[in-house]
Amino acid sequence: MAAESGHAGTQTLQRLADAMRGPLLRPGNPEYEERRRVWNGAIDRRPLAIACCADAEDVSIAVKFAAKERLPLTIRGGGHNVAGLAVRDGTLMLDLGALNRVEVDAQARIVRVEGGALWRDVDAATQPYGLATTGGFISSTGVGGLTLGGGVGWLMRRCGLAIDNLIAADVVLADGRCLVASADRHADLFWALRGGAGGFGVVTRFTFRLHAVGEVFAGAVFHPLEAAPALLRAFREFAPMAPEQGTLMLAFTTAPPAPFLPPQVHGQRVVALGYCWSGDPVRGEHALAPLIGFGQPLGRVGGIMPYAAWQQTFDVNAPAGDHHYWTTSTLDVLDDALIDALVPNAAAPPDALCDVHVYHLGGAVAALPADASAFVHRDAPFFINSIGRAQTAEKFTEVREWARGLRSSLAPWARDGMQANFAGEVRDWHEQTHDAVTRARLENLRRKYDPAGLLLPVRSD
Ligand SMILES: Cc1cc2nc3c(=O)[nH]c(=O)nc-3n(C[C@H](O)[C@H](O)[C@H](O)COP(=O)(O)OP(=O)(O)OC[C@H]3O[C@@H](n4cnc5c(N)ncnc54)[C@H](O)[C@@H]3O)c2cc1C
Repeated sequence: MAAESGHAGTQTLQRLADAMRGPLLRPGNPEYEERRRVWNGAIDRRPLAIACCADAEDVSIAVKFAAKERLPLTIRGGGHNVAGLAVRDGTLMLDLGALNRVEVDAQARIVRVEGGALWRDVDAATQPYGLATTGGFISSTGVGGLTLGGGVGWLMRRCGLAIDNLIAADVVLADGRCLVASADRHADLFWALRGGAGGFGVVTRFTFRLHAVGEVFAGAVFHPLEAAPALLRAFREFAPMAPEQGTLMLAFTTAPPAPFLPPQVHGQRVVALGYCWSGDPVRGEHALAPLIGFGQPLGRVGGIMPYAAWQQTFDVNAPAGDHHYWTTSTLDVLDDALIDALVPNAAAPPDALCDVHVYHLGGAVAALPADASAFVHRDAPFFINSIGRAQTAEKFTEVREWARGLRSSLAPWARDGMQANFAGEVRDWHEQTHDAVTRARLENLRRKYDPAGLLLPVRSD
């Protein structure tokens, strides 16, 4: 049960402002306007105040304040959550943006990452040592939200999900207590943090295992739309069997005006194969040849490069401020009937900015037992994300309905439930992101660690 909002007035909030090292932003402050905005431009909410935490002590002060005042809290990590979990009307937002320090212990192969860091902060610190851990498919996402929701990315088939590399988390609980959760300390909380998708406390520091990842063999191959059915069939055969050093994805997208594509296809709908081989880069080309050599592409880009460079390649395609609605389907097969249902919808979205992304899992992701963490469906071979996106609010409803329609059209093949990180609305976060058994276990733990429901997202947001 989510907490009812208390009535913290100006004087009460001033007590919080006086106690914290970082600023407390109130409506009217230009910085408040900036920090209340999240990546998804469709989210337009106004918190009561924004507590910009300078350190873990500030987090504890703000959480204790919220608990005393019965003031629900939201947590802003990287601000990328499409459902807008980081911000809610009339509540206290904890902005962790200044908690972005990253400390590498190259010898022990671990990295300690503060709760508001972005993946590019982690890459910048680890890559000089030829080390990395699984972040996402781009580098501007927050470590916090991405990790707590599981965390799929270019390194996952070799190194596991982001949560599979989590060794410990420093947490401020909803009553302000601080503890460290790990496999042998508060193991129930540690289980929930790994895939439970947040709401158990504020993680002020994540400790991750690192892997030897320097240069990768990575790139993208662009095909005409007509090749999509055959490419999808080739993908479904090759991807599950691919060596675990390789992670691949297919994207129905709009061709960028890039020099590696002929001018006549710029702005046209195409299907692109993205790949990243994180083993010996020289072996990558041979290992991935059956798929990257497929058909007669329109153009290709890529080669051997530092992992961090590849990780940033698509950042430019994901600027903040557009209006997004995302949803996702978890699949056991990509059979011909599914391909027939998918291609026409993916080929003709209502806005050229909309994408459809087809991913595979397997490898190290599937190597752990299903209940090793709260991330469900780790054994699923495929998932598909429908990315509804428009530049204007006027077009939002249309792209949202297209994305929802696409998911419905895949329902005959999809498992129940969706990956929390790609749930585009709070209702889905509550109802769809875990199976019944996992949800019940998570609810029990929420009652234990946040009995007043201060951190629970409200369904009506
Ligand atoms: C462009 C883009 C690309 C993406 N790519 C990937 C991808 O490759 N792989 C993937 O798995 N996901 C991906 N996602 C989804 C993303 O992981 C989730 O949306 C995630 O919630 C974003 O985390 P954040 O910290 O940036 O978001 P925020 O909106 O800041 O946070 C979302 C919620 O996470 C929780 N949270 C965040 N930080 C903390 C913390 N330190 N302590 C406690 N709770 C916290 C809170 O509940 C918060 O409300 C992508 C999203 C976008 C927009």
